Amino acid sequence: SREIRLAARPVGMPQPSDFELAEVELPEPRDGEVLIRNAFVSVDPYMRGRMNDAKSYVPPFALGEPLTGGAVGQVVVSRDPRWPEGSWVAHSLGWREAAVSDGSGLLPVDPALAPVSTALGVLGMPGLTAYVGLLDIGRPQEGETVFVSGAAGAVGSVVGQIAKLKGCRVIGSAGSPQKVAWLEDLGFDVAFDYREADTREMLREGIDVYFDNVGGATLEAAIGALRVRGRVVACGAISQYNAGEPAPGPRNMFMLVTKRLRMQGFIVSDHDDRFPAFLSDMGEWLRDGRVHYRETIVEGIENAPAAFIGLLQGDNVGKMLVRVGPA
Ligand code: NDP
Repeated sequence: SREIRLAARPVGMPQPSDFELAEVELPEPRDGEVLIRNAFVSVDPYMRGRMNDAKSYVPPFALGEPLTGGAVGQVVVSRDPRWPEGSWVAHSLGWREAAVSDGSGLLPVDPALAPVSTALGVLGMPGLTAYVGLLDIGRPQEGETVFVSGAAGAVGSVVGQIAKLKGCRVIGSAGSPQKVAWLEDLGFDVAFDYREADTREMLREGIDVYFDNVGGATLEAAIGALRVRGRVVACGAISQYNAGEPAPGPRNMFMLVTKRLRMQGFIVSDHDDRFPAFLSDMGEWLRDGRVHYRETIVEGIENAPAAFIGLLQGDNVGKMLVRVGPA
């Protein structure tokens, strides 16, 4: 079985040489363990932070060790009756073709509900991030205007669609004309390419909620456009993840005072209690065709580093995944 290890801590944008492919012999599962053959492994923006040797809400990856992350696979050998052979599971032993698990962190996946890959996207962590961040933290009211950046990504595309479902006007920004066209298909009221358009100009009519996936200049423009008692949902700041030094913050922070704004960060893993409600709502929205999703799939574990680098460069429409085995 093959796995990807961290060979060096990236400086700035990760390079292929920061990763290495290794062949390993997997141990036989012991009592209470299962052998999982992965079908899809996830690459996610937060993994960039774990590649630095810095303390954060998840510990750093170790050099020379296999990277870990979200994955979905099938149990092929089981020594635990809770996880029968043939069943599908989501887990966190990604960046490898197969793994032996002691059962910790395993979640059942129902292949009849939706393609199993969605357990890493619209029905998984990114979907829950959108749901909790928008509904619990942003709390948009019907008729309000919601602006989301990174809008054609895994989280952003779901944020915009839930906001539409809740009767909001929705503005989305993304990095290419193809992405903008998809957002228009999804029913966004306004979608624009932040590389071409002036974000401040696009927001000049005002917004009530800003769902921030990117930080930087877009956050500053959104603070300028927020109406009195507006909310910023601080979800991510991908424009800063490769920076060696923290960049200066928005110059207009004093507007939080003058406009009585609320800005609140959150980490999705603190909100597992919302997973059942999320799964039930999102399952229904998908069945009813009220939420759509896209995936960008890179083939082969050997290409996981390229998929991750591509994610940071905007190569993905919707969720970025690596296919490492049959589904
Ligand atoms: P995406 O699917 O949105 O992929 C990342 C996207 O970021 C790229 O496609 C690219 O799209 C965009 N991007 C890259 N560089 C820049 C830049 N300099 N400026 C603006 N956009 C950029 O990833 P996810 O949906 O998985 O994650 C979105 C955000 O949510 C990230 O910030 C992530 O860290 C955060 N997150 C936070 C969680 C939490 O618990 N708080 C949980 C999960 C995710 P484009 O072509 O548009 O530039």
